Amino acid sequence: MDFGIKGKRALVCASSKGLGRGCAEALAGEGVNLVINSRTADVLERTAQEIRDQYGVEVIAVAADITTEEGRAKVLEAAGQIDILVNNAGGPPPGVWTDWDRDDFIKALDANMLTPIALIKALVPAMMERGWGRVVNITSRAVRAPLAPLGLSNSARAGLTGYVAGTSRQIAKSGVTMNNLLPGMHDTDRVKSLDENAAKAQGISFDEARAKRIAGSVMGRDGTQDEFGAACAFLCSTQAAFITGQNLLADGGEVNLTM
Ligand code: NAP
Repeated sequence: MDFGIKGKRALVCASSKGLGRGCAEALAGEGVNLVINSRTADVLERTAQEIRDQYGVEVIAVAADITTEEGRAKVLEAAGQIDILVNNAGGPPPGVWTDWDRDDFIKALDANMLTPIALIKALVPAMMERGWGRVVNITSRAVRAPLAPLGLSNSARAGLTGYVAGTSRQIAKSGVTMNNLLPGMHDTDRVKSLDENAAKAQGISFDEARAKRIAGSVMGRDGTQDEFGAACAFLCSTQAAFITGQNLLADGGEVNLTM
């Protein structure tokens, strides 16, 4: 299926690796030119070159911390006109509710709620003027079913979800859609480090910890970043024009809900 977005221009935040990279590659596969971003310049530049080589699209790489005002300014300056915005950043650390004080919440809100909102405010008005745009926010399955140790993430992402629910409807007549994509367990570096921690805590090997976790999952496997990227590209397609304000779970059925 041709998604009808060839020649559009996307900003995919936090995309040198993992789910962000999956989204960047799926869009590149549709002929979308990219602005990609992450903090580590050499890894980012390698990713940019691999995407240029494989898909033949234009890729601008901007090394910056997207959760800071300076980082966002640098990315936006390099980005120019953007038709598709994919919001992403690292998630807050796990912990216990008694651990978290005001500063921890401010950090989580800055990274996972206020950063996507700032980028939406910077880029969506011009999309509205042109009558076409797509925003996809990478959030988490924890928005639908909270994971207790991820209380900082649960809180910040719930805030973003509320903002998107209202804003997507306020802008709906303009041709700009705005949706959230909620990952469950995907085989990325982040999940590798979670399995490493579980292995250490339980005194077992990495492979044992991973096998144990996966054995208890609904599909018996983790998702891949390519599968996640494909869902993102669909939400950015011309065919998805009537889908807005939604929270799409990409979690292999892990969140046990009827609707
Ligand atoms: P990952 O494999 O660790 O990749 C994270 C990417 O984001 C890297 O390219 C990293 O590069 C970049 N990044 C992180 N912080 C950044 C920042 N402040 N500014 C710019 N770039 C930044 O992580 P992932 O698994 O793809 O996860 C992506 C998001 O989805 C996270 O918020 C995570 O909490 C959420 N999530 C993931 C899963 C999963 O199963 N993977 C499940 C639920 C939710 P640098 O480090 O070089 O900046």
